[in-house]
Amino acid sequence: MKRGTIIVLSGPSGAGKSTLVGEVQKVMPDLQFSISCTTRKPRGAEKHGVEYYFLSEEEFVKRINAGEFVEHAQVHANRYGTLKSEVLERSRRGEDVILDIDVQGAMQIREAARKDAELAAVLQFVFIAPPSYEVLEKRLRGRQTDSEEQIAIRLGVAKKEISYWKNYDYVVINGDLKQAADDMTALFRTFRLRTGVVCGEELLP
Ligand code: 5GP
Repeated sequence: MKRGTIIVLSGPSGAGKSTLVGEVQKVMPDLQFSISCTTRKPRGAEKHGVEYYFLSEEEFVKRINAGEFVEHAQVHANRYGTLKSEVLERSRRGEDVILDIDVQGAMQIREAARKDAELAAVLQFVFIAPPSYEVLEKRLRGRQTDSEEQIAIRLGVAKKEISYWKNYDYVVINGDLKQAADDMTALFRTFRLRTGVVCGEELLP
């Protein structure tokens, strides 16, 4: 019996995290995202309990006070948080779970793992980076109809986030999508072979 790995995945907007994970899921279909809570409003066809648990400010604060989050942070103008129940329970069931969270949240999970051996044994920190600032800028421009000011703000935020890369255990550079997806698949497969995810003391039945 094996525990699932909790993969903390961060990277700036424009690094291509969701596209990359989508590629990996084609060959590892049981790899799923953890569902975070947020106070932001649903966008487009987003549904409660699918992309996020959409909560009011009051509900979010109630959950903070009840100690339900393993981490929570303010990102842009909204709150985001990962429920303890989403990660440890799923790992115990043997499911690998990806946490697409910002650098502040990732650092809080690192801190929490210092006092929690079970969490520490199944955690992996992966940073996704664009191949250059030039490419990142192009991707941000190509994405939508942001104003010059908004693009400058996003680039500033991205630079700050990228400065955290050394706090992660692995870095995947997403220049060529196929290469990056192959690298990430190899990495995630390796996570399943770690001794730390084997439950109990006996290796063989
Ligand atoms: P969006 O609102 O575009 O879905 O996400 C905005 C940002 O919030 C992304 O950078 C994403 O990584 C981050 N985020 C999403 N869920 C969580 C969470 O549970 N905790 C933290 N700390 N950040 C999150």
